[in-house]
Amino acid sequence: MVKRTHEMGKAGLSIPAVLKENKLLTPFRFFQAKRDWPQIIGKQIAKYSYIKDVDKNCVIIGVLNPVWMNQLFMYSQEIQKKLNDYIGEDFVQSVRFVRSGKKPAPVVYETLEGEEESDYPRGRIRDVVLSDDYVQMVRQETCHLPERIRGKMAALRFAQEKRRLSMEAEGFRHCPRCGRWLAKGETICLLCRLEDRQHKKKLVHDLLIQMPWLSLDQFVHEIGAVRSDRLYVELYNEVRRDCIYKLIERIHYDSDTPEDDLFLALFITRKTPVELPDDYVRNLANRYRKKE
Ligand SMILES: [Zn+2]
Repeated sequence: MVKRTHEMGKAGLSIPAVLKENKLLTPFRFFQAKRDWPQIIGKQIAKYSYIKDVDKNCVIIGVLNPVWMNQLFMYSQEIQKKLNDYIGEDFVQSVRFVRSGKKPAPVVYETLEGEEESDYPRGRIRDVVLSDDYVQMVRQETCHLPERIRGKMAALRFAQEKRRLSMEAEGFRHCPRCGRWLAKGETICLLCRLEDRQHKKKLVHDLLIQMPWLSLDQFVHEIGAVRSDRLYVELYNEVRRDCIYKLIERIHYDSDTPEDDLFLALFITRKTPVELPDDYVRNLANRYRKKE
């Protein structure tokens, strides 16, 4: 029963579908709006403004030139509308402007179409000095190569490492798991986070199907997490809700089995099967049955 939750996030689902499933599509669209700001608002305005942050549903626009503060303020309805059009729903409910000295350092964004490097560090790569250890390591690793390619390979490795170091110095980071570019503040990338979540969700689902009566505290203990682990608390509630809704739906359309009814009672009451008399289970299920 309730097999469907296992299937999501697997091959075949597009990234937007996975994001939507995890209620991350809107935040992701907003994230993209930051990048596409010039397109959304027009190059002229984007020249002296940028999306600085979002606080709940209020978007904070950094304004580089104080002269433009008033102009932008008068334009705030329009900005809100343009952002919502771009995001695809009424996510932005207000706009606030703050004076800002300079634009933030360029960040490399990941798009649904693939990765995009918005800005390479320029001029720095040449200045990077590689450590003796690194140079020696590459020399060692290339020494077994045929002579005519040995030097070339070493040079390539040096260039690559220099580039990596200079990008790191500029605040660019790779996802340690998959190598995708990370946005500022991320330690692993969005897709790896989602994958991780799907994996954990499946574990949570499997455990709750075995013991639907687990209270949050028992569950946390059982799965080897701690109460402060917000992801597990979230997944516990989410999986329970998913299971309960699916069972109720089945009962509503009269396509439930006695096992479904028992499962629903277990999930809702968090009691064990021996604690639940048959009558009680049946009555509970009947509450959700469609009235003729
Ligand atoms: Zn990753």
